Amino acid sequence: MPSLIIEAANFSAIKHQHQRRKGIDQAPYINHPLAVANILANEADITDIATLCAAILHDVVEDTQTGIDELSAVFGYEIAQIVQELTDDKSLEKSVRKQRQVEFAATKSFKAKCVKIADKTSNLRDLLACPPADWTEERKNEYCRWALSVVNQMRGTHEQLEEIFDQTLAKHKNG
Ligand code: NDP
Ligand code: ZN
Repeated sequence: MPSLIIEAANFSAIKHQHQRRKGIDQAPYINHPLAVANILANEADITDIATLCAAILHDVVEDTQTGIDELSAVFGYEIAQIVQELTDDKSLEKSVRKQRQVEFAATKSFKAKCVKIADKTSNLRDLLACPPADWTEERKNEYCRWALSVVNQMRGTHEQLEEIFDQTLAKHKNG
């Protein structure tokens, strides 16, 4: 039986193949979307295929030369739409994009909210394990405050997922 999840992993790996994460270990970019999908599937017990595929593909449009039409053709309308919801408008200034994430988080679909909470959790874990070399403690704190502001707009979406996010954030506060 063909697996759409494996196809998404293969597609995302190829699209992100020349990219690295910003952390000191310069991990391959694909580690992050796979970590997001792993949080959803194996920590929050989410089995919905569209949600897991969208998690694996969530940064493909924002960070590579991939259009929503291409995603729609390969993975179908629903997955493409979730990824669209998770894609920031890169023509806007970074601070505006960050503010818009807070403003619009509550308006997203249930599936997009789940991926977004797992995405923020994964990034908070990366900041603990391998932060970008030039980030000060204050900058990490600023990122934590912003991630919490976004997640706070989506409270009541998925209790287990929110608990995983909160536990990860608490590690920053205790560290
Ligand atoms: P970036 O948006 O540049 O970086 C954070 C994003 O990088 C994450 O959301 C994640 O996005 C991706 N990422 C890649 N590798 C890692 C990793 N190892 N750990 C965590 N995230 C990673 O930075 P900011 O979020 O800080 O945005 C810039 C803002 O920072 C500006 O608006 C400015 O206000 C502020 N700033 C603050 C400074 C300070 O010292 N306080 C200095 C300079 C700017 P994804 O999931 O999409 O890959
Ligand atoms: Zn991401």
